[in-house]
Amino acid sequence: MAAFQLVRPTRAGAVELKNINKWYGDFHVLRDVSLSVGEGERIVVCGRSGSGKSTMIRCINRLEAFQKGSLSVDGQPVGEGLASRAEPGRDIGMVFQHFNLFPHLTILENCTIGLTRVLKMSRRDATDRAMALLERVRIPEQANKYPGQLSGGQQQRVAIARSLCMSPKVMLFDEPTSALDPEMVREVLDVMVSLARDGMTMICVTHEMAFARQVADRVVFMDSGQIVEVAPPDVIFKEPRHRLARDFFSQVLAA
Ligand code: ADP
Ligand code: MG
Repeated sequence: MAAFQLVRPTRAGAVELKNINKWYGDFHVLRDVSLSVGEGERIVVCGRSGSGKSTMIRCINRLEAFQKGSLSVDGQPVGEGLASRAEPGRDIGMVFQHFNLFPHLTILENCTIGLTRVLKMSRRDATDRAMALLERVRIPEQANKYPGQLSGGQQQRVAIARSLCMSPKVMLFDEPTSALDPEMVREVLDVMVSLARDGMTMICVTHEMAFARQVADRVVFMDSGQIVEVAPPDVIFKEPRHRLARDFFSQVLAA
């Protein structure tokens, strides 16, 4: 199998958001959001539903436009607007709550399609790489099945492998376990933990506090479109400075 790097190095500041502002019509959804994520850093983003977490993640991945501020990924500016819609952030892998696998393609084909179509890799090399990553997420034996034949946890692991196939420099996760049955959460988190251990730069929206404690360098708490507090997990869970963060974490940690 052709060796390839799972984790590709970035320049200083893997992801930089500076005073990002975004409106949906009159609704000011992101307010002066600034965050600097270093290479290999693991960030967990928390906050109530509607606080703007997904919108922030989607701006980083160029799925949403913003109107003010600046954003760069690996030193490359991501303009306001959707300048690069045709090239949806190849340096960035994204895993959503819903797995978004192609139902009519096999697991293997779901993983190779980006490699052959976008990266113009030969079918053989693409298959080698995809199989290596399916092994990485511990489901190589499912390669020839269709998504509908897999459990939710298995499908989410395929979604992670598919993203990793493209050798992203940064991985974004938006509530990757919240649609899963409880018994499947752990297998997906285990894959994410191992990715973190390998040094992947990760920004994860999740309310899995044990995961945050295990891997996060910093936890970002958002409310009403603003970053209210950023601190290491043991600090923000035990002694948040902001009242809103205190209320939020006392609820989710008690749950
Ligand atoms: P979170 O991920 O923290 O739950 P979102 O980023 O999805 O929050 O949404 C933030 C706010 O923006 C919510 O009030 C939501 O209703 C609103 N919103 C999200 N997408 C749109 C849209 N396409 N048009 C208008 N409002 C939106
Ligand atoms: Mg969301």
